[in-house]
Amino acid sequence: MKVPLLDLKPPLKDLRDEIVETVTRVIDSTRYIMGPEIDELEKEIAEYCGTEDAVGVSSGTDALLISLMVLEVGPGDIVLTSNFSFFATAGVVARLNATPVFVDIDPETFNIDPEQLRVTLAEMDEERRKRVKAIIPVHLYGQCADMAEISKIAENFDIPVIEDCAQAIGAECKIDGQKRCAGSIGDFGCFSFFPSKNLGGIGDGGIVTVNKSELAELLRLKRVHGGERSYYHRVIGGNFRLDPIQAAVVRIKLPHLNGWHEQRQKNAQNYNKLFAESGLNEKIRTPLIMHPKTMQNPHIFNQYVIRTERRDELQSFLEAQGIASGVYYPIPFHLQECFQFLGGKKGDFPASETAAKEVLALPVYPGMTTGMQERVIEQIKAFHLS
Ligand SMILES: *Cc1c(COP(=O)(O)O)cnc(C)c1O
Repeated sequence: MKVPLLDLKPPLKDLRDEIVETVTRVIDSTRYIMGPEIDELEKEIAEYCGTEDAVGVSSGTDALLISLMVLEVGPGDIVLTSNFSFFATAGVVARLNATPVFVDIDPETFNIDPEQLRVTLAEMDEERRKRVKAIIPVHLYGQCADMAEISKIAENFDIPVIEDCAQAIGAECKIDGQKRCAGSIGDFGCFSFFPSKNLGGIGDGGIVTVNKSELAELLRLKRVHGGERSYYHRVIGGNFRLDPIQAAVVRIKLPHLNGWHEQRQKNAQNYNKLFAESGLNEKIRTPLIMHPKTMQNPHIFNQYVIRTERRDELQSFLEAQGIASGVYYPIPFHLQECFQFLGGKKGDFPASETAAKEVLALPVYPGMTTGMQERVIEQIKAFHLS
């Protein structure tokens, strides 16, 4: 039995006809740039995330980039972010010639550690702290970073927050006892419709959620080269438009999203149960859910990530048995070749360095069978007995 890391076919099966019909409708409309599909999706995502507005953009990466551009982040500025994420989170900062300053993660959740964030800010002198133009927490694997603490720190220093929600659409957390969705807490929520995310299109796409109308207006302006009227440019923007075909497909999928979240959470629980029964507790650490009981979507499991010391050997063993797994991410930002100019070195961020060596994502996608999950556990057991 082969087990892929992700299979997009099971959820596609029921929606295929509707998607083909809708894409055909967009083609026949000849409305290929912006238009009603984007307007409608923006309303629907804002409602789903509990925000005032949402602005469709070309990708999750561009969602982050355009948000930084709205904040006018540029040379000399500093942006604080997690040291352990997909490249885009830090790449966008460097692309604007600003300086990313990395913060280590909480080893239990893999998300930015608010205490380390506090320390990083406390160690800056006044002049340097004034250059900090944004904090980008990442809701890694589908669980919210500690937004209650991060928001307090950000407010204290009056620093805008850009949530990287690419892996966490619909993930919930509690702020002052209130249930809140990823992307509704900071100033910007940046989402990706890359096909492997929980809500994916049939190509690239993204969206930015906001609560302030002046930010929505600036996002819409920057999305089309910074001009309300063609050829008259108030500010410098770019082409950050969302493709109407992607918007149309994402709209078809959105009503099914909570059902898919539920299936992923069920699969995760089943893995937890199988691991508990397997006697591998010493060797394997299963993911921690911060608020398991109080919310519908405390973790949406874009990835189900275990930790184990013999990660690379285990991954090769599984691969030989036809079981795919993934390493997100093998190198923390401060050790990436392209960021060597920032002067990071081994030992600077112990929690992310250990995570990079130990994390392994197992297949958790909606539509995978219990038989497949049992096979994964069985082979992980076989590895430890061999
Ligand atoms: C996928 C992802 C992005 C980038 O999204 P794209 O749509 O691929 O550009 C950014 N941050 C994180 C954490 C991601 O997982």
